[in-house]
Amino acid sequence: MNSLNPISLKAFNTFGFEVHCHELYTISDKSELNTLFEAGLFDRNPKIISGGSNLLLTQDIKEPVVLNRIKGIRISEETNEHLSLNFGAGESWHESVMYAVHNNWGGMENLSLIPGCMGAAPIQNIGAYGVEIKDIFQYLEAFNLRTGKFEIFQLEDCQFGYRDSVFKNEKKNQYFITEVCLRLDKTPTIRTQYGDIQAVLDSQNLTKITIADVSNAVIQIRQSKLPDPAEIGNSGSFFKNPVIPTEQAAALQKQFPSVKCFPQNEKETKIPAAWLIENAGWKGHRRGDVGVHTKQALVLVNYGNGKGSDVHQLAKDIQEDVRQKFNITLDFEVNIW
Ligand SMILES: Cc1cc2nc3c(=O)[nH]c(=O)nc-3n(C[C@H](O)[C@H](O)[C@H](O)COP(=O)(O)OP(=O)(O)OC[C@H]3O[C@@H](n4cnc5c(N)ncnc54)[C@H](O)[C@@H]3O)c2cc1C
Repeated sequence: MNSLNPISLKAFNTFGFEVHCHELYTISDKSELNTLFEAGLFDRNPKIISGGSNLLLTQDIKEPVVLNRIKGIRISEETNEHLSLNFGAGESWHESVMYAVHNNWGGMENLSLIPGCMGAAPIQNIGAYGVEIKDIFQYLEAFNLRTGKFEIFQLEDCQFGYRDSVFKNEKKNQYFITEVCLRLDKTPTIRTQYGDIQAVLDSQNLTKITIADVSNAVIQIRQSKLPDPAEIGNSGSFFKNPVIPTEQAAALQKQFPSVKCFPQNEKETKIPAAWLIENAGWKGHRRGDVGVHTKQALVLVNYGNGKGSDVHQLAKDIQEDVRQKFNITLDFEVNIW
């Protein structure tokens, strides 16, 4: 749709910010991408939105906005042990997890209740409770916005890292992801070591743990810790956990024994950003109608009438304060437009 009147994007971002564009196109079938390509739309740096749950909209958008709504789930390959499942990029991530769990196909259950759509999940290699999409990823199909051709990206092509992939780096803004293929197990491996999953399951006295039990435990934990965007606008974790030299982490832990350190390799250690933000005194901080969530210091929130630019300023102030107090730079996990 091309409109003289501003089109509100409030319903298309989980922060709930009232930002406008003038051109909004909905893609529900991948052939529609060819039509937009022929019309020259992709020469004008379009912005792609799927679930809008990893976005901070700070101003009106001058470029065309393209909504990903490509649906469909199909089995593309099956053996006695595994299943390759192909999801249209506009399928809801959580509903896709529920579909797999319902069929007892293992691999996605620890990633229950993450908002957003399938097509965006590989972009930041979504992860939670000890699992990342890269662990079950087989390949994806994407439309090259410059050449108008569909391309396949195998696991190694995606260069997945911690909340990172090739689509956030050298291939940024060059592709529209149309389909994602995941490889799931018909005999699931149960993963309960991470976070409070095992404790929640222990309290239920189960005789045999299924992936449905793991999924339910993850949902229960997430609902108790994270604000529901339908109630308080947010985009989940605003900051990534910083990975710093192990020597620096050891010095930090000596000074602050309560900080948890997670060695990544021989040289690098991950530090919880939430600890840094909380210990810099920002947890629960409110500035007008935006703030830092009272229960989870990683989550910045819109209490209703805040602006994206206010959240951006708050995020930069937190970043600077943490840098001054701990000599650690926090990177944003959320995409800022
Ligand atoms: C309450 C809450 C909890 C969260 N918990 C987690 C968590 O545990 N782990 C985690 O990793 N993330 C988490 N997130 C972040 C978010 O849900 C994920 O990053 C999710 O994958 C974003 O999907 P989306 O469809 O909403 O993407 P969007 O916000 O619409 O887009 C994100 C980025 O991807 C691009 N993009 C979207 N779709 C496409 C496409 N089809 N092709 C090319 N580019 C595209 C956009 O242009 C944008 O740059 C959470 C968010 C919230 C609100």
